[in-house]
Amino acid sequence: MKRKLVCIVCPRGCIIEADVSELGVEISGNGCPKGAAYAKEECTAPVRTVTSAVRVVGGNEAMVSVKTAKPVPKDKIFEVMRLIRAKTVAPPVSAGDVIISGVFGTDIIATKSVE
Ligand code: SF4
Repeated sequence: MKRKLVCIVCPRGCIIEADVSELGVEISGNGCPKGAAYAKEECTAPVRTVTSAVRVVGGNEAMVSVKTAKPVPKDKIFEVMRLIRAKTVAPPVSAGDVIISGVFGTDIIATKSVE
């Protein structure tokens, strides 16, 4: 099966062709090895960094922005979003604080501070 992907690793945006078979993944069109690694991962085990926001109870802002500290499997994004939606925090929250730990091999961390 052939797939065309736009590499998102750098702004150049190379169009990469991936030929996926039982023998593996053959890559062409990449401008550098990082693009080949990205395309192989995208075809075999795609991952995404999830960004969202968690409700703050009693703070000077209603929400605090969060993200996964590391990318999670793409097929787990809805489960990650369910955990984030169910979570509330009390201030103070500092950027980098762990908001939810142990989520598919990583943590959900705050990306801003709220008093
Ligand atoms: S293949 Fe390399 S040069 Fe091309 S967009 Fe990806 S990272 Fe950038």
